[in-house]
Amino acid sequence: MAAQQLDPAVEQRIETLLAQMTPEEKVGQMTQVDFSVISLENGQDLDNPIDQAKLDAAIFRYHVGSILNTPTTPNNKAQPVEKWRTITQQIRDTAAKTRLQIPVIYGIDAIHGATYTRDSVLFPQAISMAATFNTELSFLEGQITAREVKASGLDWNFSPVMDIGRQPLWPRLWETYGEDVHLASAMGSAYIAGHQGTDYSAADKAPTCLKHYVGYSYPLNGKDRTPAWIGERALREWFLPGFQAGIAAGAPTVMINSSEVDGIPGHANYHYLTEILRGELGFTGFTVSDWQDIIRLHTRDKVAASPREAVKIAVMAGVDMSMVPYDFSFYELLLDLVNSGEVPMSRIDEAVGRILRVKLQSGLFERREADLPVAGNFATEQAAAVNRQAAQEAIVLAKNAGDLLPLSKQASILLTGPTANSLSVMNGGWTITWQGNAEDWYPKQHPTLLQALQAKSAGKVSYVGGQRFGEEINIEQAVTAARQHDVVVLALGENTYTETLGNIDSLSLDSVQLQLAKALFATGKPIVLITFGGRPRLITDIAEQAQAVLLGFLPGMEGGRAMADILFGEVNPSGKLPISYPRASNDVTPYDHKPMEAFEMVQYQPLYPFGHGLSYTRFKTSGLRLERSRYRLGEEVKLSVSVENTGNRPGKEAVLVYLNDVYASVTRPVKQLKAFSKVALQPGERRALQFTLKPEDLSFIGPDMRRIVEPGEFKVMVGDESASFEVLAD
Ligand code: BGC
Repeated sequence: MAAQQLDPAVEQRIETLLAQMTPEEKVGQMTQVDFSVISLENGQDLDNPIDQAKLDAAIFRYHVGSILNTPTTPNNKAQPVEKWRTITQQIRDTAAKTRLQIPVIYGIDAIHGATYTRDSVLFPQAISMAATFNTELSFLEGQITAREVKASGLDWNFSPVMDIGRQPLWPRLWETYGEDVHLASAMGSAYIAGHQGTDYSAADKAPTCLKHYVGYSYPLNGKDRTPAWIGERALREWFLPGFQAGIAAGAPTVMINSSEVDGIPGHANYHYLTEILRGELGFTGFTVSDWQDIIRLHTRDKVAASPREAVKIAVMAGVDMSMVPYDFSFYELLLDLVNSGEVPMSRIDEAVGRILRVKLQSGLFERREADLPVAGNFATEQAAAVNRQAAQEAIVLAKNAGDLLPLSKQASILLTGPTANSLSVMNGGWTITWQGNAEDWYPKQHPTLLQALQAKSAGKVSYVGGQRFGEEINIEQAVTAARQHDVVVLALGENTYTETLGNIDSLSLDSVQLQLAKALFATGKPIVLITFGGRPRLITDIAEQAQAVLLGFLPGMEGGRAMADILFGEVNPSGKLPISYPRASNDVTPYDHKPMEAFEMVQYQPLYPFGHGLSYTRFKTSGLRLERSRYRLGEEVKLSVSVENTGNRPGKEAVLVYLNDVYASVTRPVKQLKAFSKVALQPGERRALQFTLKPEDLSFIGPDMRRIVEPGEFKVMVGDESASFEVLAD
């Protein structure tokens, strides 16, 4: 594949700077520290929490290249936009006084909008964005996020997550675009295009960071930061392509896998970080370690006998910048390794050159003030409208027996359950704080599901619930209330979490939630089951008994309104599952499984399959046609299909195109998504859609680990139809 393009003028400036820099200045560029290193103690709520003496030390003595994160003491917390501008301006001004005036690049986890800027627009999390199957929304999310990050004076976003989510226990599943490679690549590329534009030095654009290269999302035991056992073929087939797509989309930075694959920690893996990332994928930007992960090669992984050796291993493997982040140990150790000749200056120049390249391409050398005004670029009405649409399209209607939904606005409704009256459960981790659980700090202008239902309903809406997620709900009271209403809306799910704090041992729902559901079913009232949360917690029994099921995942700040819009039929649901929703905890099979996973006694039998999602209208795809039935190797395959709204409401439908390579020298998935398109149709309206499969879409990783296309029969599947074609040998 094509390498990322280099600009000769930028390359010249890098050369000039490298020639002027001392070893200390170079090693400093490779050092990233946490905000707490430059801040006053317990200064979180001060107008300006920076300790200028500490900032001076970081910049003049240690020459740090990057700072990350938000004022963290006593608890990291979103800051007002003006305060961020003050903080980042002070850092810019300080760096501008250095000998070579090399700017500091400030990084932040703006993973669903500007997470750490108070009152920013916070979108559905990635799993929910994927459920929209709408790349335009992902583009707009990227565009709006970059604008809000830049209006905050921040430079660099640690997003998008390009890990593939195939392990539902993993507490960061929701940070991914789900289990499918094509969907994740499409959503991530669109996000990057919106975030960076064609030139991310523009005032309203910013560089992205692909996370977490590579294989992080597939821990065998489901716990965060534990080993993945991924063979090279599976790595290349399922886990590398998302990164490849992100690099092709122009992402200039990559964050490294905090754990290990096949016995080699991410930060020690020369094969992945250098041979594949640089040699094969043509990546020209810089890699950044994840949190404390270099020292962990010594303290945790024991592949390095000392912290010093850990630094050497990581840098020589291909880590360009260290998220140290609490001290200058990396700086001291690397400087010593350079002075002793154990790490060659050529490797340092390579890493620093990459960092300077991104700083130059980001326009940071030119920018002496945050050059994007807040007015017109932050929390705009347009952004709120995009967010609302994203939330509406993200929600998945999984079941609607007897067309219980939509509800009449006159209906009397009992709403109960732990996720019914909380904003945090709809937003998840990385919202206002790292774990996202500081409900009291959430902006009050966004309604919870309860508030949204009350605002919209013309009938009676009652609520029985605890004030906080963990509290047991008074079941007796809920049952009594249920009997006095037409319908029960039961909102279950998970509390917020991310990373290791979100580890669980089972996908089962809390037993108190199941007890509540059981008691409510016994009333015989119709029940709408709603779930919020980052993982597919098991709902098999209760979903069978509920008349309707709406899977909310993490729809963001507009989630309450969007769910109410759908419940009352003001919006027709159009979300589809970006994962296979398991029926049982130990029956986790993705849709693109191998033939032997659906053979004889073994079956693919999730509760809801990948791509499942109902509407209040009906859609019919028909007339699947291939342009030809025979193709030569290397040719594109064009196909067309029609989709019609055969029901009586306007709606949106994502049409999904799957491919199967019928016989191959390596076992192939029974089907793989290769293209999709989402269309809006009026009742009775029909649209012809064209799709093109590229030669790569027909390829797989062959017996010798290289990507190949084998001649023979292929099958295309759309809706209920399929069509076959043959690829001829040369
Ligand atoms: C996470 C990353 C994140 C980084 C900086 C790490 O613990 O794994 O996803 O970007 O912290 O906050």
